[in-house]
Amino acid sequence: MFFSGIDQYFILLVIPAMIFSLAMQIMVKSAYRRQARVRNARGITGAQAAERVLRHCGVTGVRVEPTHGRLSDHYDPRHRVIRLSHEVYGGASVAAVGIAAHEAGHAAQHADVYLPIKVRNAILPVCNVGSWLALPLILLGMVLEFYGLVTVGLALFSLVALFQLVTLPVEFNASRRALRVIEAEGMLEGSDYAGAQKVLRAAAMTYVAALVMAVVNLLRVMLRFRRRR
Ligand SMILES: [Zn+2]
Repeated sequence: MFFSGIDQYFILLVIPAMIFSLAMQIMVKSAYRRQARVRNARGITGAQAAERVLRHCGVTGVRVEPTHGRLSDHYDPRHRVIRLSHEVYGGASVAAVGIAAHEAGHAAQHADVYLPIKVRNAILPVCNVGSWLALPLILLGMVLEFYGLVTVGLALFSLVALFQLVTLPVEFNASRRALRVIEAEGMLEGSDYAGAQKVLRAAAMTYVAALVMAVVNLLRVMLRFRRRR
């Protein structure tokens, strides 16, 4: 099979990227665990922090709700809801304030029509289709010796990498907004502020890892395709 099996690109590119990605996931979990145990000096819960960020940024009509799971926090732009895991929603830890403020930062981005978000939303539907259609198209193109299909497959693969690339400014900006408001509102100070910063920085690195993974997968497919042709 063309894409199965272990080739030199898998060993040289994919395995190091997988190790990097795994290391970043361990890092974010341990940063979260550490800061989730630290109660913030003002006793502010995640839900309160999210509300305060929304108010500070003048965002209206966004609800803050608890949701199941751990580290399942996200902003749903379609329903305009910030969903926070129970630990974050009701918890008054340093991590809870950091994460909740970050999600509220996403809500503020949507309210501002922040450009990278527009780009990301525009390519998202194609990416969803592309991520499962790219490989079959390339394989079909190879079998039929119809290289136009291979090119389309490679283009879809590139789009997935582009999506991960555009995700970076979106994530970094949400954390920047969050920390700015946390500071301006005096929600966290001193070591509490530094703790929230650590959690958000670690979370950002998982998005860097996702980009590295997408680029490496694209590179591997391109290198293997070139060798076969
Ligand atoms: Zn985010």
